[in-house]
Amino acid sequence: MPDIDPERLLGDLYKLRTFGAYKTGVHRPSLSAEDVAARQWLVERMTEAGLEAQIDGIGNVFGRRPGAGRRILAGSHSESQNQAGWLDGALGVVFALEASRAIGNDSDGGVDVIAFFDEEGHFGSYLGSRSFIGEVSEAELDKARDRTHGKSLRDALAEAGYAGRRRITIDRERYSGFFEAHIEQGGSLEAAGLKIGVVTAIVGLWDYRIKVTGEQNHAGTTTMKQRKDAGLTLVRLIAAIDRRFREIAGPASVWTCGRMEFEPGAPSIIPGAARALFQFRDCDPEVLARLELALRQRIADANEAGPCTIAMDVIRQSAPAAMNEKFQRAIENAAALHAPNLAIRMPSGAGHDAQHLARIIPAAMMFVPSIGGISHHWSENTSDQDIATGARVFTEAIAGVLRGQNR
Ligand SMILES: [Zn+2]
Repeated sequence: MPDIDPERLLGDLYKLRTFGAYKTGVHRPSLSAEDVAARQWLVERMTEAGLEAQIDGIGNVFGRRPGAGRRILAGSHSESQNQAGWLDGALGVVFALEASRAIGNDSDGGVDVIAFFDEEGHFGSYLGSRSFIGEVSEAELDKARDRTHGKSLRDALAEAGYAGRRRITIDRERYSGFFEAHIEQGGSLEAAGLKIGVVTAIVGLWDYRIKVTGEQNHAGTTTMKQRKDAGLTLVRLIAAIDRRFREIAGPASVWTCGRMEFEPGAPSIIPGAARALFQFRDCDPEVLARLELALRQRIADANEAGPCTIAMDVIRQSAPAAMNEKFQRAIENAAALHAPNLAIRMPSGAGHDAQHLARIIPAAMMFVPSIGGISHHWSENTSDQDIATGARVFTEAIAGVLRGQNR
């Protein structure tokens, strides 16, 4: 059985935390000076671990375990959200590195390690993992800009020294599958006193833009009967959607109206237009379709009732990604050894690089507890003990898959 070194593992996580340290978290947006330095440090750590490591033309850090035999690919992302936590992404990269070091390369196989570029979406949508599976065109890179400061991705890649390098794409034949570890980013594990989340599927996320058109007019002289109040129509619509969703949603469905705007937005003017962003998530494609149908029905009902008109466009509809069943059992078997009775199957409510890899090769995700369920905030944390337990289970699960494929 491979043995991890908890001190080496925690030492690497603490070191990675120094790149862009912010309060107790990190500020390490993609291709910032701190992020580029962290990627270079990862290359050095991978090289010391016996991997052939390089950074490709989109900033993916890839470490290849030399030698013969089957490989598991493992990793996550190394950049952070702005002023965010030290473990989101970093934990999965260092777990993969520790698994690769602990397993080495024996007759059963070994572990390649990857830190995907920009999972956090500073420049686009999963550019690193989607590039790795061959889904990102040069034209998409030409258009990409940082959402905070507007710098083009091409300029940022050139400043980092990555411009003109080849983009590495996956050699599918090499891999038995992909494993990603991550903090839970929710409070379920902690609340239940559990240590390991075995991810069953990553949610599909469906996003919509809703626009109501009414008539802008004087808030004092226009009678209630005469007015076409786009603001009130929108508020009533969202309330009606919420009521209907409570009746038909799945047990794990979540929905959010994250933004509402009224035009012109003044106390004495009836809004002539109103806009909202509306989103829902679920792992079951049938539930997603049912929610969308209900959304469209509420809009049709409101249009029929008048007096305002409502239009809706789809912003995105990502497919839910099922995790490999055999890999889920491998994580459970590993947990039975290192965290007995402390693992549970659960969906992932957040998107991850694994959802893209899952379309190409079998994929697995494993969660460790997040203290207070907090993430995307500098106070995000997980205890050292839970980190070490998670790394033991993660490494043993991968080793179990590598052993199993040769028997
Ligand atoms: Zn993440």
